[in-house]
Amino acid sequence: MKFNTKAIHYGAIHDKQFGAHVSPLYQTSTFVFDDCAQGGDRFAGRDSGYKYTRLGNPNTNEVAARVAALDETDAGLYTSTGMSAVSTALLGLLKAGDHFIASDCLYGGTVAVINKVITQYGIEMEYVKVNDEDAFRNAFRPNTKVVYIETPANPTLELIDIEMAAKIAHEHGAALIVDNTFMTPYLQKPICLGADVAVYSVTKYINGHGDVVGGIITGKQAFIDKINNPHLLNLGGTGSPFDAWLVARGLKTLGLRMEKHCENAMSVARYLEKHPKVDRVYFPGLESFPQYALAQKQMKLFGGMIAFELKGGYEAGEKLLNHLELISLAVSLGGVDSLIQHPASMTHAAVPPEEKVKAGITDGLVRISVGIEDIEDLIADLDNGFKYV
Ligand SMILES: *Cc1c(COP(=O)(O)O)cnc(C)c1O
Repeated sequence: MKFNTKAIHYGAIHDKQFGAHVSPLYQTSTFVFDDCAQGGDRFAGRDSGYKYTRLGNPNTNEVAARVAALDETDAGLYTSTGMSAVSTALLGLLKAGDHFIASDCLYGGTVAVINKVITQYGIEMEYVKVNDEDAFRNAFRPNTKVVYIETPANPTLELIDIEMAAKIAHEHGAALIVDNTFMTPYLQKPICLGADVAVYSVTKYINGHGDVVGGIITGKQAFIDKINNPHLLNLGGTGSPFDAWLVARGLKTLGLRMEKHCENAMSVARYLEKHPKVDRVYFPGLESFPQYALAQKQMKLFGGMIAFELKGGYEAGEKLLNHLELISLAVSLGGVDSLIQHPASMTHAAVPPEEKVKAGITDGLVRISVGIEDIEDLIADLDNGFKYV
């Protein structure tokens, strides 16, 4: 099956009792056993039937397995949020005494969970410019167990060569985790490029409609098993069946939506690049993007996220953002409607100032998540906003 067919059909639940065409919603916390022997068999793992929704549910399993299939890998886990996917994957593959390497430009919540939680448990780490191969190789220690990267990075869109990162991580006996939220399996397949685990905030493109927070972890079976049991099952980051059911609905149109996001973002990036009040545009699809060649190599298309710097810095950005009408001033991304925000004071407010400088998150940086509205209306809204700058 090809991508869109899988996104619609893979693992769909066919209801034998009523013949419902769409996977039914199993909004239940627990499951009834026929008898004590069956209950015992389920808890002992001799019977794979359902027991209790924290430990597994048809809707959460359906959508996680489908995203794993789209990633062309073995298995998936559904989690309550993207941060639950990130933290459970890290805690699942690391223990006290281990060391890990993370790329130096990451989602603000990921930096916060690393700095404030994970490193409080005897796990050591270092932020490294993974693209700098020498710096990356030098960061490994005998106890380095994981390399964690995000590409394109949030918010600067800097890319990391996944094949290179996987090769070097594996040479050192470390696993590679890739946050693939910005790309989705439609645009980039981390496991096919050599990674062991991919994490997603399905809050973003995978659900795509701005009405759910959720996460998914996909990857090779041995890694997924370890992250699931004992970690996800006991830490309890399992997501809700209803949210998973909505995500499965959104996922059906992922391919179509991503095509339109990419097309619109390319038009907005070209518009911004030509705009006299804009200093720099960061978009992997522009020939001026320093890693344009890498973008063409590992991404099918260039995504829907753009960052740009205004000549007038923060004050100019504030005027623009306060005068947009169609494009909403809000964090989050990847929904059908366009959103704009200021990373330094919003999504990345938790990143310490020196790490912000290293990651290129300046006060003048603005991030836009380009939706799938008609492009003429998006440009008209930006044109109107720029009048106040
Ligand atoms: C939003 C986001 C997350 C966290 O996801 P939540 O669903 O908000 O918990 C992690 N990584 C990236 C790249 C994100 O954009």
